Amino acid sequence: MNWHASVLTLFPEMFPGPLGHSLAGKALRESRWALDAIDIRGFATDRHRSVDDTPCGGGAGMVLRPDVVDAAVGAALAAGPDRPAVVLTPRGTPLDQSTVRRLAEGAGVVVLCGRFEGIDQRVIEARNLQEISIGDYVLSGGEPAAMVLLDACVRLLPGVMGAADSAVEESFSGGLLEYPHYTRPAEWNGRAVPPVLLSGHHAEIARWRRAEAERITRERRPDLWARLHPNAAEAGAMDG
Ligand code: SAM
Repeated sequence: MNWHASVLTLFPEMFPGPLGHSLAGKALRESRWALDAIDIRGFATDRHRSVDDTPCGGGAGMVLRPDVVDAAVGAALAAGPDRPAVVLTPRGTPLDQSTVRRLAEGAGVVVLCGRFEGIDQRVIEARNLQEISIGDYVLSGGEPAAMVLLDACVRLLPGVMGAADSAVEESFSGGLLEYPHYTRPAEWNGRAVPPVLLSGHHAEIARWRRAEAERITRERRPDLWARLHPNAAEAGAMDG
């Protein structure tokens, strides 16, 4: 069975969208993963096919109805019950590479995209949906976030990435941000490629890359650095 993603959305025509191109698109055509975009509106029961209603307690906007969303989630899970179901929401757990890795190692994922003000909390609880955020900003809908999540998962699936080890050294795999990359020409607009990278000394190149990855992580993401070195002051003194 290939890795199976079901996206529940009011805009199924947005998919595969960017996921139909490049690495993810090729993998989709090669059936390394499968994608179905399920129209939440297809589960509406009234003659207006309504999926939303006004918020209890008042306030702006509309909220996706629990009964309609529940029926959509149920249909997706019936097609693949071993898959975790997630809902994209700014108040979810921030998406990180370990979550992506865990999802990629499973049978697939059911992804619920919110719209309007969001989704009735009762269906999130009743279906035990894992709440995931892709960052501290607000999108107009969950679809771009679903694409981010799926792209990150699909590239980890077996056979999707070209070089077998290209995921091993990249950002976050060892907890660090990645070192900088260079290609030819060796000199461009007065800027030279760091000489060590042209030296052919593999051990020195590895040392340089490690040092750069550590420096960049320390400078740009002190939160990640502190996680790797719980006693940051001591680690700084030792590095210094
Ligand atoms: N009222 C919500 C709030 O303040 O948290 C924002 C709703 S937003 C306009 C509509 C939908 O976009 C959300 O239900 C969610 O599915 C999606 N969304 C917006 N920002 C997101 C983010 N940072 N991560 C994941 N999904 C997001």
